[in-house]
Amino acid sequence: MARNLDPKCRQCRREGEKLFLKGEKCFTDKCAVERRAYAPGQHGQKSGQRLSDYGKQLREKQKIRRIYGILERQFRGIYAVAARQKGITGESLLQLLESRLDTVCFRMGFGASRNEARQIVRHNGIMVNGRRVNIPSYHVRTGDTIEVAATAKDQLRIKGASTAAASRGIPEWLEVDTTAMKGTFKAKPQRTELPSTINESLVVELYSK
Ligand code: SF4
Repeated sequence: MARNLDPKCRQCRREGEKLFLKGEKCFTDKCAVERRAYAPGQHGQKSGQRLSDYGKQLREKQKIRRIYGILERQFRGIYAVAARQKGITGESLLQLLESRLDTVCFRMGFGASRNEARQIVRHNGIMVNGRRVNIPSYHVRTGDTIEVAATAKDQLRIKGASTAAASRGIPEWLEVDTTAMKGTFKAKPQRTELPSTINESLVVELYSK
């Protein structure tokens, strides 16, 4: 299964903001964006580069892809589904991304990053409604219960991620029992509950051309 293998911190520096791709390190002063707040590469420190409208749309799309760890082709597919749905396309796009099993597991604290949650899913560590599901892109529906499989509950990385997530706070659209490592996807997130640093309308503008 293809995935983006580019260095994580480099991806954040390219987008000029923290994308939280590395788990706990992202919350420390070792974060590369805090240490070197400029784009990577030989010309990264050049100042005064102004982006065209197309450039802004492209960068926003790349940023969202990187946050959710999705390659271009799959992202296009998700956008196409969002565009066919009723309602605001940008919001539907984010809701579809937030309904992916790897993202739900990350939000519930069953992995320190989306990448780690994805690996836990791939390694048969997650049950959905009591059945093992090892597909990171699996679409979680309202009311589904997600649980760490009994064989994975002793993994220290999951315990650590779970405790850290609980201390930071679990999102409103999820309900999680941290001790039992089990949660429910209560509802799709509303736009106001998602980060305001994401500008999904630029992606809609880009793909509507
Ligand atoms: Fe991004 Fe995390 Fe690396 Fe900071 S530590 S640059 S937030 S991946």
